Amino acid sequence: MTGLRDDPSDERGDERAQQLRAALSAVRERIARGCELAGRDPDEVTLVVVTKYFPAADVLSLHELGVRDFGENRDQEAGEKFAEVRRVLGEPGGDPLTLHFIGQLQTNKASHVAAYADVVQSVDRVKLVRALDRGAHQADRRLDVLLQVSLDGDTSRGGVTVEQVDDLAETVAGAERLTLRGVMAVAPLGADPDAAFARLREVADGIRARHPGAGWVSAGMSGDLEAALRHGATHLRVGTAILGSRPSLL
Ligand SMILES: *Cc1c(COP(=O)(O)O)cnc(C)c1O
Repeated sequence: MTGLRDDPSDERGDERAQQLRAALSAVRERIARGCELAGRDPDEVTLVVVTKYFPAADVLSLHELGVRDFGENRDQEAGEKFAEVRRVLGEPGGDPLTLHFIGQLQTNKASHVAAYADVVQSVDRVKLVRALDRGAHQADRRLDVLLQVSLDGDTSRGGVTVEQVDDLAETVAGAERLTLRGVMAVAPLGADPDAAFARLREVADGIRARHPGAGWVSAGMSGDLEAALRHGATHLRVGTAILGSRPSLL
């Protein structure tokens, strides 16, 4: 008998889905525990599952497990993968998902990203703000925007300096098609994540004082999500702890 169940590729798919289920539930437990220790309500924290380098099939398995927020960091990969995912899910009209673009973004790719991403978390310069606004206009869409903050002043991996973040916030707030939602940061390599995220919280508080709708704080990854929860993160970006290690050559 050759039923679907006997197809070896289907068995591999089942095994992967089981892996993802177990890893996702372990991360959800970490978040629940981290919130409890920080005296926070888990309902105010959004888990963004970072699926970069992993296939659409994994996104669909995670969607089936209730994940609705996904993160990607490369334009071409993200565009193709989520076009497929949305085709399978039957959007629009199907179950909605939110795609967060979290990677360094070249200005000339901005209009492409503006056509399919829902949130761009890595906005770090005025030229990019203008390009995203134009792209959103062309696509007749709106985009949610986070300002990526460089917490150690090293902007080589992206991010606006703490000194320049207020001006950038004003520019986003004035853009017709963009909604300023808050800030994002990656803890600097080798830095104490608690110190880094405490600093981010100060920056976030300053932005929110002027822009009351901008209360999102995207901080915390697989290795430091508990520290991020201690310092007010509203969005965690978790890849490895759920999907496994990414190919190291990429
Ligand atoms: C890849 C990536 C993540 C996920 O990191 P993990 O350590 O795999 O959880 C989070 N944020 C950004 C900006 C990333 O590029």
